Amino acid sequence: MTAHAAVATPRTASRLGAAGDPGALPSPSGVALALMRLAAKETVTTREYAALIQHDPALTGRLLQIANSPAIAPRRPVVAVSDAVMVLGFAAVRQIALALSVLEANRSGRCEAFDYTGYWSAALARALAAQMLAARARAVAPEEAFACALLADIGRLALASVHPQRYTEIITAAGAGTASECDAEREAFGIDHDALTIELLAEWGLPDVMLEALRLLARIGAVPSVDESRAARYAHQLALASEMARYCTAGFAARHTALEAMVPRARAHLLDAAALDDFVAELSVQWRDWGQLLQVDTGDVPCPTAVQAQISADRTAAVSLPGLRILVVDDDLLLLARLRKDLEAAGHHVRTCTDGEQALRQMLEEQPPQIVITDWQMEPMDGIALCRALRATTFGQRIYVIMLTAADTEDALVTALEAGADDFVVKPLSRRVLEARVRAASRIIHLGEQILCEAAEQQRKAADLAIANRRLELSVRTDALTGLPNRRYVIERLDGEWNAVRRHKRPLSVIMCDADYFKDINDRHGHASGDVALSHLAGVLRNTVRASDIVARYGGEEFLILCPATTLTQARNLAERVRAAVQLEQPPDLALRRPLTVSLGVATSEADTRHWESLVAQADEALYHAKKCGRNRVSTFAETP
Ligand code: GH3
Ligand code: MG
Ligand code: MG
Repeated sequence: MTAHAAVATPRTASRLGAAGDPGALPSPSGVALALMRLAAKETVTTREYAALIQHDPALTGRLLQIANSPAIAPRRPVVAVSDAVMVLGFAAVRQIALALSVLEANRSGRCEAFDYTGYWSAALARALAAQMLAARARAVAPEEAFACALLADIGRLALASVHPQRYTEIITAAGAGTASECDAEREAFGIDHDALTIELLAEWGLPDVMLEALRLLARIGAVPSVDESRAARYAHQLALASEMARYCTAGFAARHTALEAMVPRARAHLLDAAALDDFVAELSVQWRDWGQLLQVDTGDVPCPTAVQAQISADRTAAVSLPGLRILVVDDDLLLLARLRKDLEAAGHHVRTCTDGEQALRQMLEEQPPQIVITDWQMEPMDGIALCRALRATTFGQRIYVIMLTAADTEDALVTALEAGADDFVVKPLSRRVLEARVRAASRIIHLGEQILCEAAEQQRKAADLAIANRRLELSVRTDALTGLPNRRYVIERLDGEWNAVRRHKRPLSVIMCDADYFKDINDRHGHASGDVALSHLAGVLRNTVRASDIVARYGGEEFLILCPATTLTQARNLAERVRAAVQLEQPPDLALRRPLTVSLGVATSEADTRHWESLVAQADEALYHAKKCGRNRVSTFAETP
């Protein structure tokens, strides 16, 4: 099948032209390309899409995973590829296949100064953020948002691929992401990476709304408001997704700047501090998850509020003592001063406020304390109201609250505890009692923090396990040496196809293909060369069969080609084409004494064929006949004696 060869992107290639290597332009290949060709057909069915996709078990797995991801939230679990196609839609399937195929082919390259690993790491974070944002506020379909965002900076990669040398000079001199970088690109190549991105994606058939969004993104400052056209809304989502990707990939030193750029943009998308924390936490999990699946580097993403707190803490306290952060709220200024002195003497960091409102405001604006010691009676907001308000917020639930009161009654105690106080101390305050209470609070706070850490660790382990399982599922269906689907996979497919044969009375052909004198290759050239020859052979088979056929490694040097809806004559022609292709395309790096050839046996289902197993047995018999008749030939079951 021609579908697995890469395609050049002719217009852009010639534009980037002369001095570079336009053949190195990133371009879709394999099933992605075949899907793009399918898009050009007038009528296409879900089945045609599914049949194509199933050639690529890895893509199959990834599409299923996207279809089942929380951003898509299908009503019931999607397990069949055709259902995934239905849930995601043709356009999204094409775009995802496209994006993943470009990723697969461009994980590394020759441009010295270009950080390929970092590039894909950021692209993946951006893609997932864009998908999640699109799921919250639909400008485009989330799955399309994912694919487009994964490729939203492809112009850089293209320049690095086509002009590795000159691009290295440019990014070293200008620094990536600066305005002079674009100027230098235009001068050197006649186009900058943003314009190139749009040109490439236009040639790959991405929808106009995405292209328009990318055009807007380049001058996002000039885009007026969030609720404009779909393109403008998606551009804003992409802008935020890019900031988030920068935050995710920023090292310790750059994190602060990335955070400051991200927070105001997030607010425009109705993500306040707590919502942004949740969003980033979810993004971080997905990034890890997908990073492992796609073998893209990821890292730990810190919680924005924690980073913000760290920044404020670094600013306020030049030194960091082992004490607790305590906020004391009381309208009695003398008492405030005394408590501050005592608590600071015990090594704590103390802040003070004179009523509940002021305290709340301070806690929202700065790093929240670990303990609040509050008076009961204050104006305008008293201690009980403060307690209730705190317990209604996420951050406030973790704060340990000690209520001070003049009334030593049962009722007062119950009221305070019901409002959410953790402890209750009666005035006048004994210094020893208060110190003892703070020590007790400290034990509980540290225990709580330990539990949170352990829970996070548990979650990480569970996520790792889930990923390992998913990987295992993929790997048990793929042959490690050739990357082809393996025997187990093709048997499952045979089972499925056999139902279609029965139900729709359509023919099914099976071609068994076995390398000739393969033992000879191992014996003369070594087992490693044998492996190279097998991989090469797998490639030739894959590139020669049609889009709807499935090639699998069935045994050692034996391959099975499954041809749905294929008559005997068609299958025989296909087998002959395969035979000729193998003979013609010899493994380039092995000087074999005898050319590598294959023998093929063909069998097609008849009305009286009982089971696919008999079909495979017939193809085997035909193969045996081809071997007996001298090898490097095709036999059909009908021709066997
Ligand atoms: P024929 O033309 O009759 O098929 O002869 P043949 O030598 O190809 O057939 P035979 O079945 O005698 O030998 C198959 C050989 O393929 C033996 C086995 O060691 C080799 N083989 C099977 N799997 C692998 C593999 O993964 N790597 C390598 N290098 N060799 C393999
Ligand atoms: Mg053999
Ligand atoms: Mg054999």
